[in-house]
Amino acid sequence: MAEDPMALVDSHLHLQDPVFAPDFPEVLDRARRSGVKIMVCNATSEKDWDRVRELAEQVPEIVPCFGIHPWYLRNRKDGWEHRLRSLLEATPSALGEAGLDRWYEDRYETEQELVFREQLTVARDLRRPVMVHCLKAWGWLMRVLEDVGELPAGFLLHAYGGPAELIGPLSEKGAYFSFAGNVLDERKLRMRRSLQAVPADRLLLETDSPDLPPPDMYRVPARAGHEGRYRNEPANLTAILTAVAPLREQTPEQLAAMVLENACQLLGSVPGLDLTPLRSGGPPCSTTDLSASGS
Ligand SMILES: [Zn+2]
Repeated sequence: MAEDPMALVDSHLHLQDPVFAPDFPEVLDRARRSGVKIMVCNATSEKDWDRVRELAEQVPEIVPCFGIHPWYLRNRKDGWEHRLRSLLEATPSALGEAGLDRWYEDRYETEQELVFREQLTVARDLRRPVMVHCLKAWGWLMRVLEDVGELPAGFLLHAYGGPAELIGPLSEKGAYFSFAGNVLDERKLRMRRSLQAVPADRLLLETDSPDLPPPDMYRVPARAGHEGRYRNEPANLTAILTAVAPLREQTPEQLAAMVLENACQLLGSVPGLDLTPLRSGGPPCSTTDLSASGS
């Protein structure tokens, strides 16, 4: 075994969550020491856009994403779509978290679709990847994607919980599939089948910190999160990846290299995004011009 930890990419998380405020430097330090090189940090409503941008300015490993999550769409103010567009233009960033949800109780489906479509349009115009949330809304998502047409920079389905049968059709539309630590829960058989069905060039892993923690045995000790629940953190990614690898019939090193390459593919289109943190641990992004800079 090499001394350096594997280079890891946490494809979806929320470090702006106030639950990280008391000890953020320690959380970051544990992530770094465990080999996490990129953390794709998703805003959820207009209220946290500034915080996400601030974090990305301070922490080179953070890739910021700006968007409106379906649970928080009621927080948006008039003109949000213009502010979102300007923010994306001004920042090397992707769009997210955005999506559709038929699980959440206080949902407004007409508004959800409107806000999601608006965000897809912005992402298409600016050629940015989209970080998608989809819960119990797979048919609906397919219909909207059909209708909107090609998303030139692709999209990521975070914590993919859709059926394995949709992986083919979604891949054709440019989807990447990311799985969180909850896929290691023995009861999540359907999710595991999906994990095994994703093509090698479309698989990503995430923690969704502070949410979706892996089962107990894959957790680093951490302070309590919301309502006393375990607060998930990016340092858990090593244990998650190590446990996921045999499910994909790979060694952890093979899986880590694959995920790194896929992250380069997905994020490589973001103008001005500095992916150099990836260079210090793993193989360089073979398909991405890492020296590219500018707006
Ligand atoms: Zn999320």
